[in-house]
Amino acid sequence: MELLDGKKVSTEVLNEVKEKLSKLDKKLGLAIIWVGNNEASSIYIKNKLKKCEELGIDGKLYHLEENTTEEEVINLIDKLNNDDDVNGIILQSPVPKQIDIINCFNKIKPSKDIDGFSNISLGNLVLGKPSHISCTPKGIMKLLDYYHINLEGKNVCLINRSIIVGKPLFNLLISKNATVCMCHSYTNNLKEISKNADIVISAVGIPKFITKDMLKDGAIVIDVGISRVDGKVVGDVDFANVLEKVSYITPVPGGVGPMTVAMIFDNILENIK
Ligand code: NAP
Repeated sequence: MELLDGKKVSTEVLNEVKEKLSKLDKKLGLAIIWVGNNEASSIYIKNKLKKCEELGIDGKLYHLEENTTEEEVINLIDKLNNDDDVNGIILQSPVPKQIDIINCFNKIKPSKDIDGFSNISLGNLVLGKPSHISCTPKGIMKLLDYYHINLEGKNVCLINRSIIVGKPLFNLLISKNATVCMCHSYTNNLKEISKNADIVISAVGIPKFITKDMLKDGAIVIDVGISRVDGKVVGDVDFANVLEKVSYITPVPGGVGPMTVAMIFDNILENIK
């Protein structure tokens, strides 16, 4: 069994980003829009801003009140779209109910849509055209590539169909000639599908959702889920018990999470390549 060490790989990616940034004659800027006070968001945002500081990127937080209207968010996006000192815009999810987040994502200029959630970015991905690819799927692909895991002809059980994880990842995996079965809460025979899979990717958000009996011997397991149990961050996989069965597995924390953060900065750099 080998760990897919997202901490190590993301550090290498960020070192490369730092080196490339040091050769630029301009400081890059990242704008983060946070509406409301979601607790998990505050932690993610803090991490992103900390990384900006480490990398010498001008990270700016625009923290808006819980009762902010969609129009106000869009006005801010417009302003940031036209600001040459801003190279990437992140609208932190979730947003309060009165705001249609997809509408807002679609207002972000494609070149600054470093999360890759707009219709244009997702459409280009489906069409196989260049675009910013959302950070979690891109980070997973980078991790698999780093460990020379060949996807061609592999059966993948992907448990998630969100636009943040499942839908972009599905497209990336099929572009590498994997056979992907996309599962969700209405899937009837999940265990049958996962047991037949060479690679199981779980992004459900339920601790110990993936158990030993759901995997075949030698399976590769990518654990995207993030939950908190007794104040500790855990993934979807019953980690200790599946270890004897898997060939590769991502730990939580230290797997997909750090890769996601690293890809934000990889995507910002893409703008100036
Ligand atoms: P989401 O939109 O709620 O997606 C959860 C997915 O799991 C949905 O597709 C849902 O199916 C499916 N699901 C729920 N219960 C299921 C069940 N019993 N059997 C099979 N499928 C089931 O959430 P998300 O934003 O994609 O995030 C998913 C998880 O990944 C969360 O834990 C989140 O914190 C984590 N995450 C981690 C990172 C990272 O960097 N590590 C990044 C993003 C997200 P339906 O579509 O039918 O509802």
